[in-house]
Amino acid sequence: MATYDTIIIGAGAAGLMCAITAGQRGRRVLILDRSNKVGKKILMSGGGRCNFTNLQTSPDHFVSANPHFCKSALSRYTQWDFIDLVERHRIEYFEKQTINGLSGQLFCQQSSKQILAMLLDECSRAGADIRTRCETTSVTHKDGYHLQTSQGLFSAQTLVVASGGLSIPSLGGSGFGYQLAEQFGLHRLPTTAGLVPFTFSGAMKDLCGRLSGISCEAVLSCQKSSFREDILFTHRGLSGPAVLQISSYWKPGETISVNLLPGLDAKRLLKAWKRKHPRAMLRKLLGTKLPKKLAWELESLHWPGQRELLLAEWPDRQLESVAEQLQAWELKPAATEGYRTAEVTLGGVDTRDLSSRTMESGTPGLFFIGEVIDVTGQLGGFNFQWAWSSGYAAGQAL
Ligand SMILES: Cc1cc2nc3c(=O)[nH]c(=O)nc-3n(C[C@H](O)[C@H](O)[C@H](O)COP(=O)(O)OP(=O)(O)OC[C@H]3O[C@@H](n4cnc5c(N)ncnc54)[C@H](O)[C@@H]3O)c2cc1C
Repeated sequence: MATYDTIIIGAGAAGLMCAITAGQRGRRVLILDRSNKVGKKILMSGGGRCNFTNLQTSPDHFVSANPHFCKSALSRYTQWDFIDLVERHRIEYFEKQTINGLSGQLFCQQSSKQILAMLLDECSRAGADIRTRCETTSVTHKDGYHLQTSQGLFSAQTLVVASGGLSIPSLGGSGFGYQLAEQFGLHRLPTTAGLVPFTFSGAMKDLCGRLSGISCEAVLSCQKSSFREDILFTHRGLSGPAVLQISSYWKPGETISVNLLPGLDAKRLLKAWKRKHPRAMLRKLLGTKLPKKLAWELESLHWPGQRELLLAEWPDRQLESVAEQLQAWELKPAATEGYRTAEVTLGGVDTRDLSSRTMESGTPGLFFIGEVIDVTGQLGGFNFQWAWSSGYAAGQAL
């Protein structure tokens, strides 16, 4: 059997990048993946076009108990380094154009398959071996690392855990990396679903159902974070980029505040409408700024008693209170849709137990990279950038 310097558990974004980097440095690398195909999340990502990085990548776009941890790796393998690799492989890409929200998101012009093909090409040039349908079930550490797998025993001097998080189990997500971390004495921070839609119960669930498929721009705020993006009503609750973003900052039981008229002074606007259109109904004018169906639902929710009033008949004080409801609509999600649909897993291996330079743990030769670590990017290509950067950091140290 071939002998290896390094075994990497997980052939996702982080594991492949780590294999490329270590292989280029002359290390004999084996990657093991339990799935039948490697890089499943890469293929599914960005609606099939892979949002592979973000031009604005900086530590501010990451959630972690230690916000400083990601700085070193992100600065040593940047978005520009990955763009350079993509350009060398002549993969055409574009920056998604948005008016207000996220900017700097880079997608493949054609298909996310190109990113995976590029990584596999680099792996093969670097001499890295890949085994699929090979699940690691246990690891022992004595004179190297010894992995019991569904295809037998494999050993190497160093071990990299790139097994990802718990999100979307059908795409490979597993808790195995957390289990290994605990086995080797690392701390594990609580894990929850991130970048995930909200569900609601009761009247709000019914309202979302009636509006299902409708989207509009809004600012969503929770604690000290806010995002201006689209929201989308679904049969179960709320989705859309603004909702996915804020979900990573939300804790069960908390309310989120929704501003349906971002960038506008609603109090002034409603009073100006009253002056200019005294014989109009509020819902009609609101329907020029919001989807009409939403305006009708808001009317039933916030001012059912004044439904048939002409604007001229509204006291200013009441218009002001409606304006407040439109710009600070307090919603209490029942839950999130959970790991079933979450793009990422928040929490994970505690960064205090890892070197921010190399991703090595206190146990010599044992490394953790990618999503398994308590570093989670916002929506917009940041999670892949973390996979590339952390994979590179470990690959340089192996
Ligand atoms: C639908 C979807 C779309 C996304 N779109 C984007 C996007 O456009 N841009 C972006 O930046 N991020 C996106 N993400 C997030 C991004 O895909 C992840 O953050 C990233 O893939 C994490 O990479 P990773 O290598 O750490 O883990 P993963 O990609 O999850 O890879 C882990 C691998 O480990 C393997 N594995 C697990 N346990 C074992 C075991 N015991 N033995 C052997 N193998 C094992 C799994 O089979 C898997 O292949 C998306 C996520 C999802 C779910």
